[in-house]
Amino acid sequence: MTSASSARRPLLVAGLLLALGAPRVDADAYPRQPIDVLHYDVEIAFSDAFAFEATTRVDVRLLSDATEVRLDFEGPTVVAVTAGGQPLPYRHDGGRLSVTLEPRGSVGQVLPLTVRYRGRPDGVSLVARPNAHGEPVLFGDNWPEGARHWLPSVDHPSDKATVDFAITADERFEAVAPGRLVEERELSGGRRLTRWSAPVAIPAYCMVVGLADFQVTRLGTADGIPLSLWVFAPDAGAATPMFARSVAMLEYFADLLGPYPYSKLAQVESTIRYSGMENASAIFYAEAELQGPNVDEFPVAHEIAHQWWGNSVTPADWDDLWLSEGFATYFDALFYEHIEGPEALRGRLRAGAERLVALDARRPGAIVDPEVTDPAEKLTPLVYQKGAWVLHMLRRRIGDERFFRGMREFYRQHAGGNATTADLQRVLEAGGGGSLEGFFRQWLRRTGMPELRVSWAWDEATGEAVVDVEQIQEGAPYDAPLDLAFPGPGGAERRTMALATAHDTARFGLPARPSELEVDPEGWLLHRATVVAPATTPSADRVRVRDTGGPGPSDGPPREVQR
Ligand SMILES: [Zn+2]
Repeated sequence: MTSASSARRPLLVAGLLLALGAPRVDADAYPRQPIDVLHYDVEIAFSDAFAFEATTRVDVRLLSDATEVRLDFEGPTVVAVTAGGQPLPYRHDGGRLSVTLEPRGSVGQVLPLTVRYRGRPDGVSLVARPNAHGEPVLFGDNWPEGARHWLPSVDHPSDKATVDFAITADERFEAVAPGRLVEERELSGGRRLTRWSAPVAIPAYCMVVGLADFQVTRLGTADGIPLSLWVFAPDAGAATPMFARSVAMLEYFADLLGPYPYSKLAQVESTIRYSGMENASAIFYAEAELQGPNVDEFPVAHEIAHQWWGNSVTPADWDDLWLSEGFATYFDALFYEHIEGPEALRGRLRAGAERLVALDARRPGAIVDPEVTDPAEKLTPLVYQKGAWVLHMLRRRIGDERFFRGMREFYRQHAGGNATTADLQRVLEAGGGGSLEGFFRQWLRRTGMPELRVSWAWDEATGEAVVDVEQIQEGAPYDAPLDLAFPGPGGAERRTMALATAHDTARFGLPARPSELEVDPEGWLLHRATVVAPATTPSADRVRVRDTGGPGPSDGPPREVQR
């Protein structure tokens, strides 16, 4: 499906709007057409060596009159293209299957384009190589643009669709696919047919199949949704504990955001190249993650969170990938905050900040960067860890109540569809509290993070702590709240100062002279800090300055500062 937010406007206009600072419209490099795929009906039969013969019907709704529809399709050999039983002329080259509509198609029409083809797994997007136990297996590994190597498709997340799979293979394999198992039938010749129906639109990168001699176990139900685990039998012992809290994760996210969007959740051991891939209702994990002796729970909560963020609410544009990965990273951390407490969340964010500092030194970039056109190249700590930090800082800025209400509302408005960063901003601003334009711009569209030089002194005459913060990063000053804590005899006094200029100074009246200053004690601001003695000294006290937030030269033991 194509959401209203992914209106197809000329790229030139997008560029002009961007230059003027207006909200960006679609800008990634995918050549959009005025069509909307509603449904894929895939019948695919695998031979013993996993060569396949397939017939895929693509139900395409025309959004304007058209003489041609182009599908992404690369590799397999096309045998025929028909619509309603009538053969259609086509051209298959350059990764495109261009189908000529005869007669001309008219706006609103739904064309059942049926493509018959045969092929072999390409080894990247459809992978048939033995698993670690030497057993034959096959898995789809579509993200980001791999569906086109075995499914004629609009292989872009902006055009979601429902999908039915009919999979025929040797009876020694169990088959798994998105959606609900609607039929399982033994065929002649030692073969088995399974049919799966996914009646909620998903992106093409989630439309996968898996074939293996799985051991399947039930993990229980959550809100009536059955959870199951599909593993290679020798790994069952090591793998099972990894999924012990899957039910709790699903229930937590459903409570937080809204009902789980699909009819089942299968978690599947596989031979994909990523450690986990969130395929809608059939999460695939790399087998190494499930094989002992050091199996841990990561990335289970991340992949389950993706069922809401990425699969149900799907970025309309690769440039908005953080709406999938940053959200899954932060909601994973929220699960651990929920069950283990705030330090579990902070630890994850601190580790993320360290990765961002390292990335900044090596290859600075912005979360939303239309210059990076290859979606796979966008898969950096920027969309994951910095994306998570953006949500965390947003939560600090607007407060828990508005933040979580906003997340639920953003989910409700875009579940089953697409969304852009501008949609998120609009939903959150509608929740009250003013414009977030500056917040989104400074955190999503610029490189780096605030680099702070912090000093403070105690003014004995007025009973005030004087805190001095210089922003020494390149570019404009950030606008952000900076939390401070002043431990003293009666406990820590907490204050917040507004960072807005290159050099901010604030005075805080305190009941007694604090023993030290803690900068960002709860880790709400992505930053680096250097601690120096202030240039001017209201008094000659000896003070200690400690930064407990982001990474930086001040990390480690508190240092003594002699002024
Ligand atoms: Zn992810």
